[in-house]
Amino acid sequence: MTISSLAHVVKDLIPDLTEFYAQYKSIEPFLKQKTPAPERENLQTIEDRKKLDGLYECILCACCSTSCPSYWWNSDQYLGPAVLMQAYRWMIDSRDQFGPERRQALQNPFSLYRCHTIMNCTKTCPKGLNPGLAIAEIKKAMALE
Ligand code: SF4
Ligand code: SF4
Repeated sequence: MTISSLAHVVKDLIPDLTEFYAQYKSIEPFLKQKTPAPERENLQTIEDRKKLDGLYECILCACCSTSCPSYWWNSDQYLGPAVLMQAYRWMIDSRDQFGPERRQALQNPFSLYRCHTIMNCTKTCPKGLNPGLAIAEIKKAMALE
């Protein structure tokens, strides 16, 4: 039997988050628009702003991804709960205009669909966030497209 450390853990209290940050970068975690930028702020209604509650508070600690069995086995291809929750955060931002493209980028067997709704991620989050629900919402939106 082989005993190995959790994904990303090199040694006690020494994580290697290189891959985690590369995956975060891959979802383009910033506002993207097709129309010319407004002269001043990108305005948002109070209701649309509320949709980001429970998502923007993520501190990218990676506890959820580290606790996810699917991520242990496929962290080279599966994006994991932390990154997917941030992907969702940009998909539902009323100011972003690349939702369909963001979802399309996840349309393969690994990036998203290795989540099997085990929900370790949600139980683990020290901020009380719910990455499992965010992933379910992405799947739902993709099923309707
Ligand atoms: S719901 Fe389960 S499989 Fe999906 S990301 Fe969370 S821990 Fe991983
Ligand atoms: S455990 Fe919570 S705060 Fe940490 S990365 Fe995951 S969702 Fe974000």
